[in-house]
Amino acid sequence: MSVARSNAARYVSTRGRAPVLGFDDALLAGLAPDGGLYMPEAWPTLDMAGLAGLDYAALAARVMAPFAQDAIDQRELEALIRDAYAGFDHQAVVPLVQIDTDTWLLELFHGPTLAFKDLALQVLGRLFDRALAARGERVTIVGATSGDTGSAAIAACRDRASMDVVILHPKGRTSDVQRRQMTTVDSANVHNIAIEGTFDDCQALVKGLFADARFRDEQRLAAINSLNWARIAAQVPYYVAAARALGAPGRAIAFAVPTGNFGDVFAGYVAARMGLPVARLVVATNTNDILARVLATGAYRRGTVVPTLAPSMDIQVASNFERLLFELVGRAGARVQALMDQLGSAGGFDLEPAALAEARALFAGHRADDAAMTATMADVHRRTGQVIDPHTACGVAAVAAAAAPPGTPVVVLATAHPAKFAAAVTGAIGQPPPVPPALADLAARPERYTVLPNDLGAVAAFIRARTARA
Ligand SMILES: *Cc1c(COP(=O)(O)O)cnc(C)c1O
Repeated sequence: MSVARSNAARYVSTRGRAPVLGFDDALLAGLAPDGGLYMPEAWPTLDMAGLAGLDYAALAARVMAPFAQDAIDQRELEALIRDAYAGFDHQAVVPLVQIDTDTWLLELFHGPTLAFKDLALQVLGRLFDRALAARGERVTIVGATSGDTGSAAIAACRDRASMDVVILHPKGRTSDVQRRQMTTVDSANVHNIAIEGTFDDCQALVKGLFADARFRDEQRLAAINSLNWARIAAQVPYYVAAARALGAPGRAIAFAVPTGNFGDVFAGYVAARMGLPVARLVVATNTNDILARVLATGAYRRGTVVPTLAPSMDIQVASNFERLLFELVGRAGARVQALMDQLGSAGGFDLEPAALAEARALFAGHRADDAAMTATMADVHRRTGQVIDPHTACGVAAVAAAAAPPGTPVVVLATAHPAKFAAAVTGAIGQPPPVPPALADLAARPERYTVLPNDLGAVAAFIRARTARA
């Protein structure tokens, strides 16, 4: 008789009250039914020696394979990942650039929308498509964007046979570049809606669509949000690739990670749990610093969101932090549930001293305000000629917080191309950043979007009409 052993491709909820799922089911579910996030039951072990000489796609497949072994074999996974990154504009996919004796930038912005979310989403779109095709299912992906994340979701889902993607943005409230990155995508399964309202209205409409059980089931509504486990899994390989290039496993590497929702830096934690020698993970925040504060004081208290030069990190409650909490409380789902209840009812909670000490053994926090980001962009440009964006600047500003022994390489995750945040960059370095080919002809390409009133019925009717198939 075989006994189910705990393994990395079985997924449990951080709140402990959801059935255990395999990889594809956790992928398609996103959030667990008890409100928690899926986590692998056990951490696999990295075989660093087996990674020697592999290119990025092959390395990524080796690193991700244990998490998906029940659903997809390593060879098929490698082919899928290779296809996902084929359109990136750098052969290395995630090149390293040295900016100081012990400091490197890991450029994660060579994908179609010039930000690091492409690394995970290009893989996720293909994994979704594959799992849905195998089941003969079709879904409608719906999301709201303030301008920044919609394009990465559209780029991930365009032309995928098993899905339509509908993205709502607030009409006239995104930048021209942000809107055009979404609306110039010429694909039959991409549907952009400009809502006559604010981002909050867009979010409320998406919630309303999901809350309508009949509509949700009829359309098979789905979300590709940052809580999906597969997104974390797809971000682990670049930590491994950077560390390998800089001497791991022979020496430990520190990382400084521009952080909003705690997804990217949590992937660094996963790499460490798999055995990668990680000297430190610096959680680099802007003035929305809930994560820097919890690491400094143990108090996790929500504040109000303040707009900064690094808008993709303008977040106060970092949803993926729940995954670290789960680890810090010994995987006791009931304890996580109690802390999350406290966050909801009292606006915060305090980490127990032992949990805080455990977090601090690996993580450090740092906060950069707009003035610090601007000074850092100017300083890096003056010293090295490199042009960095405001999010990456938060990471560079946080390097010293790694407090790593001399000779320890510190890798800053460069999460966006500077051309995406041209105004802030120009303000810092006195000249506009270079425009990459992906943006060069953006203004000349035709746009496609539909303007709709802030009205749930109108949005639902539009989606029904667009997704109706003969
Ligand atoms: C989303 C984003 C971040 C934050 O990543 P999290 O995984 O949410 O912590 C940082 N920089 C850029 C450019 C982003 O788009």
